[in-house]
Amino acid sequence: MRVLVVEDDASLNRQIVAALTDAGYVVDKAFDGEEGQFLGETEPYDCVILDLGLPKTDGVSVLSAWRREGKVMPVLILTARDRWSEKVQAFDAGADDYVTKPFHVEELLARVRALVRRAAGHATSEIVCGRVTLDTRAGRVLVDDMPVKLTSHEYRLLAYMIHHKGRIVSRAELTEHLYDQDFDRDSNTIEVFVGRLRKKLGVDVIKTMRGLGYVVEEGA
Ligand code: CA
Repeated sequence: MRVLVVEDDASLNRQIVAALTDAGYVVDKAFDGEEGQFLGETEPYDCVILDLGLPKTDGVSVLSAWRREGKVMPVLILTARDRWSEKVQAFDAGADDYVTKPFHVEELLARVRALVRRAAGHATSEIVCGRVTLDTRAGRVLVDDMPVKLTSHEYRLLAYMIHHKGRIVSRAELTEHLYDQDFDRDSNTIEVFVGRLRKKLGVDVIKTMRGLGYVVEEGA
């Protein structure tokens, strides 16, 4: 899962990025509205954390621009306690959720998890795929109720596939959502990870669709 953080307060930006990275997300960051808007327009994100008070372009304008262009990724806004009218504006512009500064990073993470899974159409924090269960809250995977040890890359790939079960996901899409901008994007890497996942899970939950990509079947 790839997340964009747009926050001009350098230390808060760093803190959010660190927490998200620890939680297994791939994170891009921007420190002003212009840079953030550009990234949101050009890169695919599973969630965006957007501060409203930003230099160059304010958060509400950035969000409005994204929605005008048809960008539907979930957006969580960061707002100051006494700025209720700003919050209303942001929701009208297409925000999905908010947290008020100062906030506990655990709450931010919980809200991001909820947004990501709701955007993919899942109402609870556990997503079951036959014998495989993805526990998004604990960040782990179980096969027949037994936890399986996965690396962060393997977890990320499987989590993305399971969030989007029932749909064919191309290698290019996986690469875009699993790595940040600076990663050397070699699609063979994806194949290697899928192979390792199959071995570790011992269940063929990820099916290869020749020439198209991969799918985790709805009823698998
Ligand atoms: Ca700010």
